[in-house]
Amino acid sequence: MFVASVIVDIPTQALDAPYSYAVPDDMAVSVGCAVLVTLGGRKAVGYVAGLEEASAAPGEGTDLWGTPLAVSELRQVEAVLAGPFFDEEGAACARYIAERYVAPLSSCVRLFTPPGAVPRVVRGRDGRWRLEEPKIGEVDDRWVTRGPSFGEFAPRKNAVKQQQVLAAVGAGDVRVAELAREFGSVSSTLKTLGERGAVVVERRRRMRGVEIGGAAFSGEASGADDASVSTPSVAALSRAAVRPQLTEGQVAALAAIEEARAAACGRVVLVDGVTGSGKTEVYLRAIEAVLAEGRCAIVLVPEISLTPQTVGRFRSRFGDAVAVMHSRMSDGERFDQWDFIKSGAARVVVGARSALFTPLANVGLIVVDEEHEGSYKQDSAPRYQARDVARWMMARSGGAVVLGSATPSIEALYAVAKDPAWTSVALPERANGRPLPPVEVVDMAAEFASGARSMFSGRLTRALAAELSAGHKAVLLLNQRGFAKFLLCRDCGFVPECPHCATSLTYHEEGCKLVCHHCGYTVAAPPVCPECGSPYLKKFGAGTQRVESDLRALLDGMPGVGPEVPVIRMDADTTTAKGAHQELLERFGAAQAAVLLGTQMIAKGLDFDDVTLVGVINADTQLHLPDYRASERTFQLIEQVAGRAGRAELPGRVMVQTYEADSVAIQAAARYDRGMFLRAELPKRKLLAYPPYVAMANILVWGADEHEVATEAELLRAQLADLIRDTVGDPRWTVLPAVPCTLSKLRNTYRYHVVVKAPLGADISAPLAHLFRTRQTHPHVNAAVDVDPMDL
Ligand code: ADP
Ligand code: ZN
Ligand code: ZN
Repeated sequence: MFVASVIVDIPTQALDAPYSYAVPDDMAVSVGCAVLVTLGGRKAVGYVAGLEEASAAPGEGTDLWGTPLAVSELRQVEAVLAGPFFDEEGAACARYIAERYVAPLSSCVRLFTPPGAVPRVVRGRDGRWRLEEPKIGEVDDRWVTRGPSFGEFAPRKNAVKQQQVLAAVGAGDVRVAELAREFGSVSSTLKTLGERGAVVVERRRRMRGVEIGGAAFSGEASGADDASVSTPSVAALSRAAVRPQLTEGQVAALAAIEEARAAACGRVVLVDGVTGSGKTEVYLRAIEAVLAEGRCAIVLVPEISLTPQTVGRFRSRFGDAVAVMHSRMSDGERFDQWDFIKSGAARVVVGARSALFTPLANVGLIVVDEEHEGSYKQDSAPRYQARDVARWMMARSGGAVVLGSATPSIEALYAVAKDPAWTSVALPERANGRPLPPVEVVDMAAEFASGARSMFSGRLTRALAAELSAGHKAVLLLNQRGFAKFLLCRDCGFVPECPHCATSLTYHEEGCKLVCHHCGYTVAAPPVCPECGSPYLKKFGAGTQRVESDLRALLDGMPGVGPEVPVIRMDADTTTAKGAHQELLERFGAAQAAVLLGTQMIAKGLDFDDVTLVGVINADTQLHLPDYRASERTFQLIEQVAGRAGRAELPGRVMVQTYEADSVAIQAAARYDRGMFLRAELPKRKLLAYPPYVAMANILVWGADEHEVATEAELLRAQLADLIRDTVGDPRWTVLPAVPCTLSKLRNTYRYHVVVKAPLGADISAPLAHLFRTRQTHPHVNAAVDVDPMDL
């Protein structure tokens, strides 16, 4: 008899442990299966995380997870519902994430499960438990194809439908659904034709087309029958695309990656290459080598740069062996990709951070492109950092990790300097030999002092006129933080705020509305001040719409430019629709002269040859935020966006408008001088005890009643401080006072936090896990841990 250790999927804020269930002898269960169990009087779905022969521990002892076994008393697994979704390694990974990030185990095993693929347990009105079938599964299509006597069978003259169907099938295999759409009901026709052997109707597996932005690809393109899902040979794959002669830097990077792979212990190679230096080409070659050894590879890219352009480069090299995973896909599409990977036909998975958790077997390399990106950290449980989980995985499976960036995170640079398992290779030049564009800093304070009031400085205006009239393109970046437009009463200073969030409402020209950008709360803009009745309500700040209309006016009046030059605005409002992002980029690409005006989302991944001017409208708003990474982010943003200019023959230039022209982050970015930036930034981090000099975690506390939240946060702080004093006893650990979060109220929920710092190398998760496992949870205040937080 086997005993299964089962992670029961019941929503919990406490940290959960697996429970043991006996497996009936006639039941086929394996690790990773979703099963039906009973826990605390209710039925629930659980995931099998381990299996042990019960005789090894007859009625006593503990299982792998430390759970006491008493086999005779154990409840039984009631049914196998679906899966397996992960193997022993996946179970170990889930356990690692749960421990490292102090997260419920159930949230960690869910990472491995395609959404919608497991039945849900629901309780009916009559109090009985029911299983609700999974929403997602395989989709079959019925296809009509030629039968053995296709050529011989001649329909009668008046059998019109038979003639139509035969004509259609004669032109190629066709779906029953398609025939029905065209000719009406065809079932009796197909039956007759089938009986005569003229056609054959068969079921074929369908892949829901995966949309990445606008372009769709689907499994059908390569034939929909199972037989076509075979592994293309590596040689065939490599022949498929042009492989440029590698630069010296690329050769060195590949050598470092080969060495790290040979060490087979999860070593990390940082490819520190400017934009356009050929990092992607390095990834492609490294992956070729991995595939040639019969192993597989994962490529993580930031959600926003997961465009057809990016995916296309991998597909043109590795063809149908590339699977794609990202959060904008529907559940059905994700399931199909998951299933495709599970079949063994996929050899490379390209995707956002969730691409780590597919059933891709025998992974020998994980590439994390743009490793400095914040989107590699998940902001809900489990709050894992994909970069670090990748490292753990490769250490386990004897592979290597490649991190790539033009602006590596300070953490990565620090690790390269201090950790022998890390190396870095610099690619300081663009692959095509083009220089990086010069960056000019435009001092907006000086402009203002000299009487200028436009958000476009004289220099930026002249540069726009020159480039656009020459038929070139420009990219203008709006730092969205600080760009919201709000109302202010000039008499009493009143600013309308969201009643549910601690933030001012944003004014929208369209419809004259005030909108909360956190919760969506919307009201009509008041005609007079609701506080003092004054009619002098002034609009402050400039929304992206306002910048767009000002820019439009500016261009319209420009000699040699005028109204024909389109302004394409790309921000949260214009990219909500699926594929909108891609469509805007395509429009920009196809236009003659044009301006792409957008928020942070335009800073990366754009690759247009004819962009000769990049302007940053407001570089400094991030410097004021109470965020220890603000300077680092500003530096990275400017370097990233600068890389969009002058990528091909046409030389580029960059203008950075700022009210803080002296700030080191901006000056250093303008000189592409990372050393200058780090020399200023690192001593500050060290002095104030921030990463990379300490390990940090954040306890988040939230609830509807501010007093309760504050009290609970203080209680947690005190308990944790005591626990650390008693168990760790190292005075270098600090627990800061409980304080409101920067966004102190969100959707009527009050938010507090407690910051914990520990010396580097200390296991900061351990005391937090202990606290969260043992503490009494509050009935209506929530708490969670964020280890290595991105924001405070
Ligand atoms: P990155 O990922 O660092 O931004 P890419 O790999 O996208 O750089 O390369 C930038 C451009 O240079 C691409 O158009 C790519 O095809 C080209 N490229 C890359 N490596 C080489 C090379 N060795 N020789 C010539 N062109 C190259
Ligand atoms: Zn007022
Ligand atoms: Zn709100």
